[in-house]
Amino acid sequence: MSTLSNRINNLSESATIKMAKLGRELAAKGVDVISLSFGEPDFHTPEHIKEAAKQAMDKNMTYYTPVAGYPDLRKAVVAKLKNENGLDYDFSEIVVSTGAKQAIANAVLCLVNPGEEVIIPTPYWVSYSEVVKLAEGVSVFINTTVEQNFKITPEQLEAAITPKTKLFMFSSPCNPTGSVYSKDELEGLAKVFEKNPHVYILSDEIYEHINYVDKHESIAQFDYIKDRVVIINGWSKAFAMTGWRIGYTASNKEIATACDKMQGQVTSGTCSITQRAGVAAYEGGLESVLEMKAAFKKRRDIVYKLLSEIDGLKVNLPDGAFYFFPDVTSFFGKSYNGQTIKDADELSIFLLEEAHVATVGGDSFGDPKSIRLSYAAAEDKLIEAVRRIKEALGKLV
Ligand code: PMP
Ligand code: GLU
Repeated sequence: MSTLSNRINNLSESATIKMAKLGRELAAKGVDVISLSFGEPDFHTPEHIKEAAKQAMDKNMTYYTPVAGYPDLRKAVVAKLKNENGLDYDFSEIVVSTGAKQAIANAVLCLVNPGEEVIIPTPYWVSYSEVVKLAEGVSVFINTTVEQNFKITPEQLEAAITPKTKLFMFSSPCNPTGSVYSKDELEGLAKVFEKNPHVYILSDEIYEHINYVDKHESIAQFDYIKDRVVIINGWSKAFAMTGWRIGYTASNKEIATACDKMQGQVTSGTCSITQRAGVAAYEGGLESVLEMKAAFKKRRDIVYKLLSEIDGLKVNLPDGAFYFFPDVTSFFGKSYNGQTIKDADELSIFLLEEAHVATVGGDSFGDPKSIRLSYAAAEDKLIEAVRRIKEALGKLV
């Protein structure tokens, strides 16, 4: 009999975290590794946010917090949803968690029964399918291609829904493809959900501020389905706060109460000091966010140009987030030094060993044809990384 539960034995390790770890291990051996594996802004958290955290410590705000977050933080989230997104929520419908990651886990564990189906368009963020496994749900994938800019159509959605469907999970802007659904495209999907009142929608909007095409659109804006939408958002990407661990759900009261109960048994309230930083971020305006977005856009354009010059890579121009997800199938079956590349994960390892650039293979994103590169790194590093990638890929014959 295995020591460990089937639950953990069946769970895959997070591929993003695994590749970041491999990159760090190689760097610790003295190798000059450029890490494009981890999706985290390389900027520092803005000063006014750090200042609020320091003040919180000085004021001894070091005690347990309400499980769903300090009331003024939840009210700041309500004001943000109203002012930036035109959405009405009550503060009792907001649950602040230890990162958007926990917010997603809360929502899925609170909604999905064993055997119920969760529709996930591919490519998707690595943790979606794994959290569904924890809930003993069944992931049902809708495949998309680079040619359709990795976005599903209402027809594809309709065809995937069955009486057993409980939840639909997606991100826009999308990790790993950078695709952004327009208002019209979201409305097309919303109309399908209107006809299927048994389906809930988890809308992961953590990259909302890293959108180069338009203003952010949330699927919760369609009143006829809003009650069934769970918005996921957080501070990690917009405010460069990945290490602070803070995110939230906005949902109907029943789901919020359930997430509060779940979290109350697993972690309790998010770090008190982080929560004060979260309030300062939301009350401090978007100046720093816009500066970071401009830098990301510049980097995107540089990397797009350089990647497009590499023979064999099929690249789309991402509209948001900070990732490229090029199709690398033309390298499958090619060899170097007696090693033949079979799939994207092997190509990603090859690039780490040969070019000393850490990326993530597409398999864990539900797309074994591509690799993911994060461009949340300094410009000179990005230029050097793509140069090395080009050189290494050129060795494969
Ligand atoms: N959703 C998506 C799509 C992500 O890329 C991430 C990456 N961290 C998260 C959720 C979780 O973010 P965090 O837990 O740092 O708030
Ligand atoms: N979300 C980031 C990524 O996709 C951070 C890693 C993680 O939380 O899994 O790389």
